[in-house]
Amino acid sequence: MHAVCLPYPAQGHINPMLNLAKLLHHKGFRITFVNTEYNHKRLLRSRGLDSLSELPDFCFETIPDGLPPSDDNNVTQDIFSLFNSLSTNGLEPFRHLLRKLNGGSVSPLNSDVAPRVTCIITDDQLAFPMEAAEELGVPCVTLWTASTVSLVCYAHIPRLFEQGFTPVTGAEGLTKEYLDTVIEWMPGMKDVRFKDFPSYVRTTDPNDGMLNFILKEMASGFKSSAILLNTFESLEQCALATILSVVGTIPVYTVGPLHLLVDRIKDDRLKHMDSNLWTEQSECLEWLDSREPESVMYVNFGSIAVISPQQLIEFAWGLANSKQSFLWIIRPDLVEGKGAILPTEFVTETQGRGLLASWCRQDEVLRHPSVGGFLSHMGWNSMIESVSAGVPMLCLPNFGDQQTNTWLACTELGIGMEIDEDIKRDQVEMLVRELMEGEKGIEMKAKAIELKEKAKEASGPGGSSFRNLNKLLTNVLCT
Ligand code: UDP
Repeated sequence: MHAVCLPYPAQGHINPMLNLAKLLHHKGFRITFVNTEYNHKRLLRSRGLDSLSELPDFCFETIPDGLPPSDDNNVTQDIFSLFNSLSTNGLEPFRHLLRKLNGGSVSPLNSDVAPRVTCIITDDQLAFPMEAAEELGVPCVTLWTASTVSLVCYAHIPRLFEQGFTPVTGAEGLTKEYLDTVIEWMPGMKDVRFKDFPSYVRTTDPNDGMLNFILKEMASGFKSSAILLNTFESLEQCALATILSVVGTIPVYTVGPLHLLVDRIKDDRLKHMDSNLWTEQSECLEWLDSREPESVMYVNFGSIAVISPQQLIEFAWGLANSKQSFLWIIRPDLVEGKGAILPTEFVTETQGRGLLASWCRQDEVLRHPSVGGFLSHMGWNSMIESVSAGVPMLCLPNFGDQQTNTWLACTELGIGMEIDEDIKRDQVEMLVRELMEGEKGIEMKAKAIELKEKAKEASGPGGSSFRNLNKLLTNVLCT
C-alpha cells in the first residue's frame, strides 16, 4: 500500500497530516508526504539541515505553491492567496508527481522501486487531489483538520444567508446585540450565537471570496471516499450526533487525538520526525522544569494569528499584573508592523517569573506538570492538545473556526473562559488569576482532567479512535 499525503501548507494542517502519515506507516504503508517547496525550505532552515531525514518507505516530496517568490521566505504566507493559488495551480504539478511515483521512482534509502500509489489523503481545504485520485482510480480520503462543531456550522452558513444574518451591513451592523443573537435552529449546538460561527460569516460582501472558497472546497470534501475527523466521540458528541445529516452518505471516522495515537507507536525514528516550520527553543522545557507544579500560564497564539501592538501591550500588563508565572511564545511575525516591542518596565516587573520565547514544542509544553493553564487563540490543534493534557484554557479566538472552538470549550465543555475581543489588561489579569487560583479555575481543571482521561481511552487499544483507524484501513484504504 502506498499513501500520498498532501496537507494544506500551514502548520495547523501539516501537524495532524504528519501524525496520520506516521500511523499509516506504522500499519505498513509506504508514505509519500508532500510539502510545498516554500515550506520544505523552511523545514530545512528551522533544523539547519540540507535534507529531511527519511525512513525506508517514508519519503518527502514537494510541489510548488504557485505564489510569486517573496523577499521574506520564512513567514506565515497569506492564507487566502495560498488557497487561491493552490486550487488554481496545484493539480498539474501534483499529477506530475504521481506520474513520477507510479513510474517507479527509487527511494534514496532503499533501492526498492516504490509501489504504485494506492490512495491519496488530502486536506479539507484542497479539493484538486480528488480529481487526481479519480484519474488514477484510487480512493481519496479527506482529513478535516478543524473541529467537528465548526464543520457543522460551516454546513449551516447558507441558512444564515437565507435568514439575512450574513452578509452583515457594515461594521456598524456588528453590534454586541447582533453578535450575541442565539441561533436557535442549530442542531446539537445549544445556545450557539452568531459570534460563535466561523468568523467569515461577519463579512459585508455577499460574494466574499474567502467564505465562498471554503464552502466550495468543503463541499468537494463530501465527495471523497471517507472523511477523517481529528476528534474523539466524547469531545464533540453535540456535533457528531448530527454529522451524517451534514456529510450525506460519506463514511466518517473520528480518529483523534491523532498525536495521542502516535504516542503509542514504539518507534523512535517516527517520534522524532516533526514538522515545525520555526526553530523550536528547547529552553522552554528546561525552564518549566524549574517551576512549581501547575504554576505556569502558557500563552501561545499559534502559527497564523496576528495581534496589534496595542493588544500586545494589554496582554503584557494583564500577565504582569496577575503576578502569575508565564511562558509566552511570541512568534517573530505575531505582531503587526514593526514587531513585538515590550516596555522595559514589563521586563523588569516580570523578571524571574516570565519566559518569552519565539517557538516551542507545544504538545510537550502542555503536558509539562508545571503548566496550569493555556491562554490560546483556540486553533483546533491547540485545543485538542490542551484537552489531551488536561489543561484548562483562556480563549481569545482570532479568526476562522477559533470562534466555534471557543463556544465548545466555554459553553459546552466548561473547560474555558473567554476574553473579550476588545482586549483590556484588567480583564486579562482577572481571568488569569481566576484560572490559576480561583474557584472557576478548579472546576475547569477537574473537567479538563476528565476529558484527558477520555482522550486517552479513545486513542488506546479498543478505544473509539483506535478502532476507527482500523476500520478505515479495512473498509476504505486496503480494499
Ligand atoms: N505549535 C507549536 N509551537 C508553537 C506554536 C504552535 O508546536 O510555538 C503547533 C501547535 O502544537 C499546533 C499547531 O502548531 O499543533 C498550530 O495549530 P492550531 O490549529 O492550534 O493553530 P493555527 O496555527 O492553525 O492557527
